[in-house]
Amino acid sequence: MTGHDISAGSAATDHLWMHFTRHSTQDTSAASVIVRGDGPYIYDAAGRRYLDGLSGLFVVQVGHGRQELAQAAAKQAGELAYFPLWSYAHPPAIELAARLSDLAPGNLNRVFFTTGGSEAVETAWKLARAYFRRTGRPLKHKAISRVMSYHGTSMGALSITGMPAARNDFEPLVPTVVRVPNTNYYRRHHRASDLYEFGQWAADQIAEAIEQEGPDTVAAVFIEPVQNAGGCIPPPPGYLRRVREICDRYDVLLVADEVICGFGRLGEYFGSQRYDFQPDIITCAKGLTSGYAQLGAMIADERLAEPFRADRDWFAHGFTYGGHPVAAAVALANLDIIEGEQLNAYVRANTDVFRGYLERLYDLPIVGDIRGDGFFFGIELVKDKVTRETFTTEEKEVLLREHVSKALFDAGLYCRADDRGDPIIQLAPPLICDESHFAEIEQILRAVLSDAWRRL
Ligand code: PLP
Repeated sequence: MTGHDISAGSAATDHLWMHFTRHSTQDTSAASVIVRGDGPYIYDAAGRRYLDGLSGLFVVQVGHGRQELAQAAAKQAGELAYFPLWSYAHPPAIELAARLSDLAPGNLNRVFFTTGGSEAVETAWKLARAYFRRTGRPLKHKAISRVMSYHGTSMGALSITGMPAARNDFEPLVPTVVRVPNTNYYRRHHRASDLYEFGQWAADQIAEAIEQEGPDTVAAVFIEPVQNAGGCIPPPPGYLRRVREICDRYDVLLVADEVICGFGRLGEYFGSQRYDFQPDIITCAKGLTSGYAQLGAMIADERLAEPFRADRDWFAHGFTYGGHPVAAAVALANLDIIEGEQLNAYVRANTDVFRGYLERLYDLPIVGDIRGDGFFFGIELVKDKVTRETFTTEEKEVLLREHVSKALFDAGLYCRADDRGDPIIQLAPPLICDESHFAEIEQILRAVLSDAWRRL
């Protein structure tokens, strides 16, 4: 007994340093303590039920409370709880690496395990740099990423992240990352006549950045198939193919950061398959285990591993817990569920149903744009639908932070109200959700957003 009342959240206020959380909020109100999950629902310490509209944090693809995954973890922990991948291997990591190689597109047959997404992104950049060094182009070291993108928080991954609010306190970051426009068509500054032309223009900005920096200095372009931060920004038709062509032209590696987009979120194992383009590296995490254990991976094209196989060479990189046996065993069981329950086909068949429920909200004056794909959507809130005028920082503060987030949760929907750029409500429910859950999401959003508009 510690003497702390954990269920009331006061111990969290005193001792638990929550992530990306305002400490002033912690000081004035106890944290909501979530104690249990079941299917698409989570329950707090008082027994209240909430629909998990964000799969935790874009993680819990197969839903909460899956005993198969708990049992897979227990079985592996009983057999071999831990062993590193430093010079030794263990069966779950070997089997999972082979399975991911089969699932990943093209020659992406080399799997480097990490414990999460930041480490996977970090690893991809390090591999790109080391690969070009080994192959006689040591100046190729820079990365290109898109405005408002999120790629993680470790210093390398944070440098690639394009969100000023996440970076400012930690400058100077790792040199050198160049930022290019994302593909937010609703907020475009370019006068493209249609989505296709806009996508070609956005891709060409990457070519321009490479030219500006000097092709001899650029190692890799990091892109999420659907960009999360900034509000579920899908790629225009033809965009990713064009990015691929540009990377080929300049001998730059294309890294698909699929930490969110992988494992069914977009109705395929990987977003690269959804949009039919071939990356050189995929970074993934989150849905790989549905969050029942922590695991990430960098899946690289075979040719990128070749230079490290010669003589006494090696890729001087690793993590104690990368490819942890328990996490790898959980990932295998999670892939069994995704495959057995045909969740990719299920998401593809239900994307438009989900979208349809959300698009009913277009009759509300505060709803400006609804965008996304798979089970991954963002709703952009506006002050004026016609002019697309957005909210001031102060209005966002009152509207999103003080009102909408809390009201949605109080009404039984856990999702994200993001005010780091344009105000967005993000939805990424577990892939097992059906029409009744989409209807529940729509009803709660309708009530809360209507009320928010009246308060404005
Ligand atoms: N990359 C993307 C696209 C992400 O969305 C995230 C996390 O949300 C990361 C990287 C970092 O992953 P992690 O938080 O597991 O380090």
